[in-house]
Amino acid sequence: MIQVGINGYGTIGKRVADAVRAQPDMAVAGVAKTRPNFEAHRAVEEGYPLYAAIEERIDRFDEAGIDLAGTVDELVADSDVVVDATPSGVGAENKPLYEAHDTPALYQGGEDADLVEASFNARANYADAAGADHVRVVSCNTTGLSRLVAPLSETYGIEKIRATLVRRGGDPAQSGRGPINDTLPDPVTIPSHHGPDVNTIFPDLDIDTLGMKVPATLTHTHSVNVTLESDATAEGVRELLESESRIFVLPEYMDIDGSGKLKEFALDAGRPRGDLWENAVWGESITVEGDDLYLFQAIHQEADVVPENVDAVRAVLGEMDAAESRETTDEALGMGF
Ligand code: NAD
Repeated sequence: MIQVGINGYGTIGKRVADAVRAQPDMAVAGVAKTRPNFEAHRAVEEGYPLYAAIEERIDRFDEAGIDLAGTVDELVADSDVVVDATPSGVGAENKPLYEAHDTPALYQGGEDADLVEASFNARANYADAAGADHVRVVSCNTTGLSRLVAPLSETYGIEKIRATLVRRGGDPAQSGRGPINDTLPDPVTIPSHHGPDVNTIFPDLDIDTLGMKVPATLTHTHSVNVTLESDATAEGVRELLESESRIFVLPEYMDIDGSGKLKEFALDAGRPRGDLWENAVWGESITVEGDDLYLFQAIHQEADVVPENVDAVRAVLGEMDAAESRETTDEALGMGF
């Protein structure tokens, strides 16, 4: 069993822990937290060994009556791979800790690309992570775009992509984020940083992105225009996307008109936390006009990077090839509807 340590047990970390636990070839070595909050309480209830991320705060866990298994240093030493799911920028501060123990580390999309040897998407460049000590699983938006780009570029070739990313203001638990009552060009400069981030996965892709932020918490929504290099039909593109395990093409009859019904659908389907690990592409939106493909997709920001982290664990250790890993991950999680 691959022993996976998870440093940072928040929105992404707790989901990755559960996904790792579901895998036939992995176990959660433990999770590290900075303070004894509700998530620390849950980690213990879930049976995950809990480690203190900051040694000086051990007393606070003791006072809360939460048992610790040790400090993050011990967790890193006992792990075959660490998934760093700490807030943006903290991963970079943690890098020397992983280096000191010679433990390969996976970072999240909030870290800079130049922190790592490879940026990662399981569908697009799994093999690039083989043997790397520091790998970044790209952000939710970049993951969502990469899952589209890979099959489209393989099948039709891509001349250029223009995408407008209508981003949620914050996750449901981020009560301090906004906007509360506004629609923000964010960043107001064009292109946004998202296109260059996609280029960390597809270096030669011609892509321009525009960012916005709106008062919503459930998902991001992408409006995508892809100029293709060869002839395509809407039906052909739809069939292609339907054949991708991490893309869910929403059938018209389901009458899912937005993120609200989409999340309700995921909850009704029994998904943990109502998570949607797949890109949700509106079938009706898939349109081809001349060389141009248009579509809308929703990206559940808290969830789509979770299977990618699981695959990245195997990729760095060279445990399986890309297709086998994705299939194993998908089966263990129950991907697809
Ligand atoms: P979060 O704030 O929900 O969770 C981070 C956790 O790390 C918190 O529990 C925090 O207490 C803990 N932490 C802080 N400092 C720490 C330290 N020094 N050591 C150990 N733990 C520490 O954040 P998140 O949303 O899970 O984001 C984590 C990373 O994932 C970021 O890089 C973010 O950009 C990226 N990401 C987030 C989302 C999203 O929508 N939430 C999507 C994709 C990628």
